[in-house]
Amino acid sequence: MRLNIPLTGEPEVEAVREVIESGYLTQGAKTAAFESTVRAYTGARHAAAVSSATTGLHLALVALGVQPGDEVVIPGFSFPATANAVIQQGAIPVFVDIDESSFNLDPALLESAITERTTAIMPVHAFGLCADMDAINGVAARHGLPVLEDAACALGGTYDGRHAGTLGTAGVYSFHPRKIITTAEGGMITTNDDALAERIGVLRAHGAVRGELFMEFVDAGFNYRLSDVHSAIGLAQMARIDDIVAGRRRAASELTSRISGVDGLRVPSEPAGTAHTFQSYVVMLDDGIDRDQVIRHMRTRDVETTLGTYGMHLQPYFRERFAIADEDLPRTTRAHHQALTLPLYPQLTGDDMDVIADALRWSLQESARR
Ligand SMILES: *Cc1c(COP(=O)(O)O)cnc(C)c1O
Repeated sequence: MRLNIPLTGEPEVEAVREVIESGYLTQGAKTAAFESTVRAYTGARHAAAVSSATTGLHLALVALGVQPGDEVVIPGFSFPATANAVIQQGAIPVFVDIDESSFNLDPALLESAITERTTAIMPVHAFGLCADMDAINGVAARHGLPVLEDAACALGGTYDGRHAGTLGTAGVYSFHPRKIITTAEGGMITTNDDALAERIGVLRAHGAVRGELFMEFVDAGFNYRLSDVHSAIGLAQMARIDDIVAGRRRAASELTSRISGVDGLRVPSEPAGTAHTFQSYVVMLDDGIDRDQVIRHMRTRDVETTLGTYGMHLQPYFRERFAIADEDLPRTTRAHHQALTLPLYPQLTGDDMDVIADALRWSLQESARR
């Protein structure tokens, strides 16, 4: 059983065929239609499709005016692309510890991470659960800082009825196959800020603006566009998004009902006022359990599992460059070692869930530290 299987089929195949047969392949009408569908779905005023969430985060940081040498505050527990986007701009990621029950940036620790060199705050909506955005926006407003949401996993997630990715200054979704919808590779930046959207549009395509006959290059921009081939897949996926999100949420609650009484683990939480996308279904294991042994045991039962996500300060590049002590990020460090992702997708049947729950119960018993 795989961790995730994207919900794709004939409509996606047909959409790609149509684009290829049209002879117009790069960013064009399909991309514009995909962007407008995401705008309508999320309520964002602007949406710009990009080649990945990583390029989208980088582009958004540049458009927000983050300069080399600046500091950008991020949670310590995330896929390293969150920090890499900051580093690509020559800026410095400042890691803040997480709240263990949500896996999200702990806003109580945010204020003390801000210095006079801070130029942006970048919360992550871990596994599709929105960070505590009221608290984060409050701190950001006091310091006059923009908030860039890493909403890579959170398309369809909500906070007080508003969509992830529309809660800060700008937000970025990912369309990698492990995320909520997929375009194979791809991403999208959303914002309600007209001037920011304009800068993003120019920087996305070589820093060029269209003149009467030729383009004029007004900035040293990127090529971070999403092709019409990819966008056509995204459009077909958006036609299914309600089914995908509802299906993930239903699967999550069925899995929770099977394992919530199991000794040695804590099931994912969903605070009041939020809707989790369950991009990943992540449980926390007690310290007495060897998580990596659980992964190995689950594999013998043909159930794929993995870590939750990364304590970035534990990875070789970040360890060598920033030398952050485990004690400075205790909850991130613990989540890195004890969080476990289980398979979750709408196509899972009740029998599949029984297999996962049984294998997990057995694997936990076999993996107690002695
Ligand atoms: C997947 C992911 C990314 C990177 O997305 P890509 O589209 O693969 O570049 C960034 N941040 C988080 C939190 C992610 O989960």
